[in-house]
Amino acid sequence: MSSWDVVILGAGPYGLSAAAHLRAIPGLQTRVFGEPMSFWQQNMPAGMLLRSPWDATHIAAPNGALSLDAYVAARGNHLPAPIPLRRFIDYGRWFQRQVAPDLDTRKIAQVDSNGNGFLVKTEDGEVVHCRRIVVAAGIAAFASRPRVFDGLPFDLASHSSDHSDLNRFSGKRVLVVGGGQSALEGAALLRETGADVEIAVRNPNVHWLGWKGKISKIKPLGRLLYSPRDVGPAGLSQLVARPDYFRKLPRGVQEWTDRRAIRPAGAGWLQHRVTGIKVRTGVHFESALPVAGQLRVTSSDEGIQIFDHVLLATGYRIDIAKYKFLSPRLLDGIDRIGGYPKLKAGLESSVAGLHFLGAPGAWSFGPVLRFVSGTYYAVQALTRRIATAYE
Ligand SMILES: Cc1cc2nc3c(=O)[nH]c(=O)nc-3n(C[C@H](O)[C@H](O)[C@H](O)COP(=O)(O)OP(=O)(O)OC[C@H]3O[C@@H](n4cnc5c(N)ncnc54)[C@H](O)[C@@H]3O)c2cc1C
Repeated sequence: MSSWDVVILGAGPYGLSAAAHLRAIPGLQTRVFGEPMSFWQQNMPAGMLLRSPWDATHIAAPNGALSLDAYVAARGNHLPAPIPLRRFIDYGRWFQRQVAPDLDTRKIAQVDSNGNGFLVKTEDGEVVHCRRIVVAAGIAAFASRPRVFDGLPFDLASHSSDHSDLNRFSGKRVLVVGGGQSALEGAALLRETGADVEIAVRNPNVHWLGWKGKISKIKPLGRLLYSPRDVGPAGLSQLVARPDYFRKLPRGVQEWTDRRAIRPAGAGWLQHRVTGIKVRTGVHFESALPVAGQLRVTSSDEGIQIFDHVLLATGYRIDIAKYKFLSPRLLDGIDRIGGYPKLKAGLESSVAGLHFLGAPGAWSFGPVLRFVSGTYYAVQALTRRIATAYE
């Protein structure tokens, strides 16, 4: 059995950023598992544009190397803004080739502790040992669906993360449920592929992000109110960009800040592409039943309607118990709250040597960990912890 100082589980922005940093520690033996940028390739719609702006979309590497600017220089071609999904995936894979050319793309079936670190079992049965494990497995396991749509055939109701190609809905009547970027951009893309779309939002309004662009025209004010990490509204953006301050706030303030920073909203540049699509707000669903190959949906505002498909852009609810690779014994040992692991400095859980990066870190370190721009904080904190432990 091979033995490693650190195994990194995941090859999205967080896992790759961790690889870039940890591999700069002399002598530290690391192994990285995961399919590079798989969530972005398989669980987001082709044609999507990233909501995060340029400065908030660099995957962190030591000394700011491997930024989007470095990628553009290496590729020698222009990268437009907003950044197309296809190009961000290419950036991530380019990053991966620099920092983890030896990436092992096998899925991890199980992680367990063995009293002297962890045993990590691949899908085809190889077991490797490591002293620490960094879980950067993303949010794919956490897709959340309103109960009313549970148990329906996939052809009639699916989650937005189930699709990378929306062309299959061309010519169909589709109801998109949700009021965030995923729902609004999904609806725009659906209409552009020839579907007949409407959007149903639970909240009383749809929020469009526009203020930042206006305020940023007054440069010093823009810089004062918005961090380049670009998570959250004016002012709050600066707090959220500093997870060490966020951690010191009273719990109630942290929760309010998290909710406010990630409330559902659409990017201002998307608004014109949604114009003309029927958007219903304050909608509650009572039932959804298959009838002759279609879905009969009953809602609080329109009563009974028939759709060919309901696309649930209803987000993600973090619950690390849904990471099937965590053995029940290991899971039991992790202090959790509402599905999130409680993390200490270095994003280490209550199980020594078990770290979580990305969205599962948001309860402890705030909403910036839900986005690519959080790699700059999370991975530096992780690296400090691991470097100290190996001194
Ligand atoms: C529609 C949509 C649009 C978004 N747009 C933006 C945006 O514009 N900007 C932004 O900052 N954020 C955006 N996000 C948030 C984005 O998902 C996160 O910022 C980002 O994916 C976090 O990276 P990650 O490395 O934590 O996870 P991921 O990118 O999901 O990577 C997870 C990795 O873990 C691997 N993995 C999982 N399970 C296993 C296993 N059992 N064995 C081996 N490997 C495994 C996967 O193969 C993958 O390599 C968006 C999210 C959605 C849903």
